[in-house]
Amino acid sequence: MSVADNLQEVRCEIAEITQRFARPAESVRLLAVSKTKPVEDILAAYAAGQRLFGENYVQEAVDKHQQLSSYADIEWHFIGPIQSNKSRQIAETMAWVHTIDRDKIARRLSEQRPADMPPLNVLIQVNISDEASKSGISLDQLDDMVSLVMALPNLRLRGLMAIPAPQVSEAEQIQVYQPLKQAFQALQQQYPDVDTLSIGMSGDLAAAIASGSTMVRVGTAIFGARNYA
Ligand SMILES: *Cc1c(COP(=O)(O)O)cnc(C)c1O
Repeated sequence: MSVADNLQEVRCEIAEITQRFARPAESVRLLAVSKTKPVEDILAAYAAGQRLFGENYVQEAVDKHQQLSSYADIEWHFIGPIQSNKSRQIAETMAWVHTIDRDKIARRLSEQRPADMPPLNVLIQVNISDEASKSGISLDQLDDMVSLVMALPNLRLRGLMAIPAPQVSEAEQIQVYQPLKQAFQALQQQYPDVDTLSIGMSGDLAAAIASGSTMVRVGTAIFGARNYA
């Protein structure tokens, strides 16, 4: 199947799920995760109307941003881990970053955001599965991280992101998302700019949308299997 066909299928699936959980139509945005895939695939998705693309590796993200610089309405999202020596490249190219989980990285991104660009939209990554090896802050640390990000002039806090450990059933997936959903709703009540909950991948779209996702991140189902990563 072509990228355009896959994209159409994923859109239909999202529409069906939003309806099933009585979420408003169009309340869930689709981020097409194009990591490891060539720019031709991105252009095929673009031709089919896709505008939000997610990348995980800094050099690859910067290269694709450069190659596709004439497509000004592509919205580039960085969704991978960030090393501090790479923060400048991210600050100079991306529209969004989903993986804020360290004070130092947040400060650097704000300092390095060029003055002629709008503030960088950021999501705080939360570790909801309590896996020591995984990225993301715990929910206990959320208030401190929110205060820090709010104080940084060139970052605009838009919400939260998580990558939960795989669960066996949809009911378990929904249960794991509950504390995050509550934290997101509390944040939204406090800050009108907060509008994005980035949860849901190919394996748990329904549970994520049931739990209030406003942005799902889908790679394989759109672009096919990856050879690495
Ligand atoms: C790769 C990736 C995805 C997409 O995963 P697929 O299984 O290819 O749909 C979503 N979110 C993050 C953070 C990723 O790294």
